[in-house]
Amino acid sequence: MLKVRLTKEFRFEMAHALEGYDGLCKNMHGHSYILEVTVIGTPIAQPNHPKLGMVMDFGDLKRIVNPLIVERFDHSVSVMANTSTHKKLIDVGLQRVEPLPFQPTCENMIDYFAKIIIEKLPEGVSLHHLKLNETATSYAEWYASDNL
Ligand SMILES: [Zn+2]
Repeated sequence: MLKVRLTKEFRFEMAHALEGYDGLCKNMHGHSYILEVTVIGTPIAQPNHPKLGMVMDFGDLKRIVNPLIVERFDHSVSVMANTSTHKKLIDVGLQRVEPLPFQPTCENMIDYFAKIIIEKLPEGVSLHHLKLNETATSYAEWYASDNL
């Protein structure tokens, strides 16, 4: 059966600080993240279906990823929960702090994004892979074939 991959790109600005890290990323700083979401499926063949010929409406993918990831993390500060950095941010009353149960590295963020996107995909559509650029030259990739 024909399989086609679809990719949509999302962008958000996020600050983070890596608790205990032995490099510059221990200091709070921001990145312009680019997330590519690639799904795979078979184009709908039912003649009267409003999405005839589509694996998935790009708009539907946007309606999944925007609230889950872009609106939540854009212009936020992500830190590992219950660390000294997290406590300091609470003390100063900073808005849009996202405490996470993990160190907010590119690797951990992409794995988390995969898990929350998979839960919302319609039947017959699978997550093929994600690519998350942290800088113009650095990115992480998550592939279903490596993990499921
Ligand atoms: Zn960083």
